[in-house]
Amino acid sequence: MTVKFKKLNASCHCGSIRFSIDLDKPLSEIVRCNCSICSRSKGFGMLCTPEQNVTIVEGFESVTEYVFNTTEAPHYFCIICGTHTHHKSRNSPNKICINVACIEDFNIADYKGAIKNFDGVNHPRDL
Ligand SMILES: [Zn+2]
Repeated sequence: MTVKFKKLNASCHCGSIRFSIDLDKPLSEIVRCNCSICSRSKGFGMLCTPEQNVTIVEGFESVTEYVFNTTEAPHYFCIICGTHTHHKSRNSPNKICINVACIEDFNIADYKGAIKNFDGVNHPRDL
């Protein structure tokens, strides 16, 4: 059983896609990745959480999927505004990584000590 700690609401830029994240523990880690797609996405931070904690509340029809390289980590975007909302973790396939910039009232400056750099260019599953 998952114990809910806090519910976060998130959306894409145009608001077509709305989703929620049920944190089961305090947010302690934001991942920044240097791989080819993350480095082109304004260096966003990611909150990675078990897939069952993420619910698309509205706008599922506006979600499009992009896969590349090994196709193991589909990335999801809004078909209207292009916001990169989330992707499936390749490193932990049971997790979804949320673009923290999509989370309502989220200020990454409050989590400076929680930012962890991930060397996606040299992904451990490619070695
Ligand atoms: Zn949108």
